[in-house]
Amino acid sequence: MTLTPPLPPVLSTLPTGLLVDGEWRDATDGGRFDVIDPANGRVLSSIADATPDDAQAALDAAAAAQRSWAGTTSYSRADILRRVYEVLLERREELAWLITREMGKPLADARGEVQYAANFFRWFAEEAVRIRGTHAVAPDGRGQILTVREPVGPCLLITPWNFPLAMGARKIGPALAAGCTIVFKPAPQTPLSTLALAQILQEAGLPDGVLNVLPTTRAAELVEPLLRSGVIRKLSFTGSTHVGKILLEQAASAVVRTSMELGGNAPFIVFDDADLDIAVEAAVAAKMRNMGEACTATNRLYVHEGIAAEFTRRFAARLADMPAGDGEEEGILVGPLIDAPSLAKVERLVADAIAKGARVALGGNADDLAGYLYPPTILTHVPVDADLLTTEIFGPVAPIVTFVDENDVVTRANATEWGLVGYIMTRDLDRAQRMAGALDVGMVGLNTGIVSDVAAPFGGVKESGLGREGGHLGIDEFLNHKYISVAAPKA
Ligand code: NAP
Repeated sequence: MTLTPPLPPVLSTLPTGLLVDGEWRDATDGGRFDVIDPANGRVLSSIADATPDDAQAALDAAAAAQRSWAGTTSYSRADILRRVYEVLLERREELAWLITREMGKPLADARGEVQYAANFFRWFAEEAVRIRGTHAVAPDGRGQILTVREPVGPCLLITPWNFPLAMGARKIGPALAAGCTIVFKPAPQTPLSTLALAQILQEAGLPDGVLNVLPTTRAAELVEPLLRSGVIRKLSFTGSTHVGKILLEQAASAVVRTSMELGGNAPFIVFDDADLDIAVEAAVAAKMRNMGEACTATNRLYVHEGIAAEFTRRFAARLADMPAGDGEEEGILVGPLIDAPSLAKVERLVADAIAKGARVALGGNADDLAGYLYPPTILTHVPVDADLLTTEIFGPVAPIVTFVDENDVVTRANATEWGLVGYIMTRDLDRAQRMAGALDVGMVGLNTGIVSDVAAPFGGVKESGLGREGGHLGIDEFLNHKYISVAAPKA
């Protein structure tokens, strides 16, 4: 296999500093950290490592820019977002390359992520001009009730590493459309896509101070003072439930509004009336997209006993045909996991399941693979006490559990603290409707393994989070309602 030649321009023109008040700067203490390519362990770039003083400067800049940014017309904000959409697509190849190199996913997936990220800018450019209030006449005749929507104010946005461009786009797009300024903290494993996006936003005409970007290895030290400052009025976080709970406590100290996109433990339920071709393709998408490193990744496949052998045979044939390697190589469909701890976690979860009685139908051993690669893996006969049924696997491992009774599988699917997404494979319309209602989740994939869509409200229930991103609800997260009581005219 041959490596596509790297595209040096994207790295050579990429800023490596912090963006504060429109200026790319070094950290106040001069510190930097390395961004590592997960496919080969090489250093991709060295990035300024923001300090709490830098965070204060970013906060000051966001606060100072808030009033003028909120005062811009929605047409002018929409124009900037639309330009960003266009530039992201023009630069799709180099951005996809950047995502593949810093995060590991195969190029085809990375191209899909650039498209997904761009679509958020297009969508929120269109939403920016549709921010609406309400009007009513007071029922007792005392006057009129007007409500207007206003930006919540400076926002803190925090993202994980698994979709380095799209997770930022899903927050930056609506925040800017609503008229909010931003302090943005990307994940330290994958800050490069964010820096590229920030540069594109600047070039598209975003005024200084509206977006401030703080790559850092000192997240906890930086973020807590920001949340307690009383200046940040909105936190939008995507990441683990564990960290989300810490941030919710901190946000409570200054009554900061929050949106939380947290972990998942998605059940994927295949009934014996399912179209198996559709079910298998949906399972491949729900499990293998992003190497399983997605909050929407199915973590547990419940397959009806009557079709379990056939489903497993076909699913295994599809996964066996997915080569693992450097995501930039032609034909590679499974890239490396993000880092050594992630690989160790997946190995531990598989070993635990096998020790408790699970059988390996495919994969299950990374010994022949380099670096952080883990092979597509299917486990059957997975016992209820296997840790991977109650832990986010975040890797290409599919545990299959059989069931017979619909009520029983609902009980098992809901027996988790999470509730992000559930997948249902059936041709029976009544059953589909019953199941969609019965699952305690924020999103349902009905005969599909992909639910992400910029036009849909993405989000979970229970410990999977609060609020929604995308769709018509996405911009609401960044807007307050203000009620104006208008006195009746003098008679
Ligand atoms: P994570 O460890 O929670 O980190 C997420 C972000 O929070 C990173 O930028 C991280 O920076 C930062 N962070 C960690 N501790 C912090 C603290 N005390 N104060 C402030 N910031 C802090 O999650 P991850 O491992 O990067 O991402 C995987 C998780 O994200 C999974 O649970 C996945 O399900 C979830 N996720 C959810 C969605 C969704 O839409 N629901 C989408 C994608 C991912 P540091 O790395 O420097 O700590």
